[in-house]
Amino acid sequence: MNLNRYKFNGKQKVELTAFDTKYTDCFTTSDDVKSIVEENVKEISELQSKLYAEGKTGLLLIFQAMDAAGKDSAIKHVMSGINPQGVNVHSFKQPSSEELAHDYLWRAVKVLPERGKIAIFNRSYYEDVLVVKVHKLYEKLNVPPRCKTADTIKKRYEQIKNFEDYLWENGIITIKFFLHLSKETQRKRFLRRIDNKDKNWKFSDADIRERKFWDDYQEAYQSAIGATATEKNPWYIIPADKKWFSRAIISNILLQTMREIDPQYPVITPEQEAVLEESRRKLTKQE
Ligand code: AMP
Ligand code: MG
Repeated sequence: MNLNRYKFNGKQKVELTAFDTKYTDCFTTSDDVKSIVEENVKEISELQSKLYAEGKTGLLLIFQAMDAAGKDSAIKHVMSGINPQGVNVHSFKQPSSEELAHDYLWRAVKVLPERGKIAIFNRSYYEDVLVVKVHKLYEKLNVPPRCKTADTIKKRYEQIKNFEDYLWENGIITIKFFLHLSKETQRKRFLRRIDNKDKNWKFSDADIRERKFWDDYQEAYQSAIGATATEKNPWYIIPADKKWFSRAIISNILLQTMREIDPQYPVITPEQEAVLEESRRKLTKQE
């Protein structure tokens, strides 16, 4: 799989309409990628143990998408090989009044990964340049007029880019996934959520209201991705009409990222080795 096809580092122009959301590379069914994904899961799990033991680098995985693009199932899948002790998942909903009383990064900062850990964000501070842009929600904020001007969103792109740079320089790498779904596939998945009783809970009539703003959202995603993709903290645009394929690419990207981090178990010093030997001696003698 050529992962560069999906990667945006700020040098390319982002054009979402030029993307084939149904793309599945040379694969036709989920069975074709099953063994790849299984191998990936094993290696990711080993690398995560090292990441945790080393404690030098934190990894922040951000998932953004239109409703029904498969964020939840992609996250579930990413988690499958990962030791729960080293990972936290956070979902970002409509901000509470406490959250609205703070700057928009505040709620994300509180749950950033410590070094050695992985944090998965199901939605994120990117909502503050997506839904907030589409509905001009910043105009409703209780802030001085200078904080809600026509270029508020543009300023936020810079703030986010700088924020992620800052994290990178402090040992935290941010990888951003946009699960790119077609409007038609969203329609079908919504219908399935209505038809299937076990999926009813996932559907809300608000989803239909937001669907009306489809083009505005696409525009918002396109400019946000273009403005915040960097070499250090890239965006990946993942074709999402076939869930099995998006999950396979995501696992490949995660594996590649972790290989690049290349975490190592801490090296034992001669002094530590001596202590281990002493402990072995005591335990062997059943002390
Ligand atoms: P879901 O992820 O489907 O449970 O929905 C969460 C909802 O919260 C989505 O409609 C998001 O757009 C919305 N949301 C998340 N963050 C924000 C935010 N900062 N401002 C407004 N709405 C948000
Ligand atoms: Mg939803």
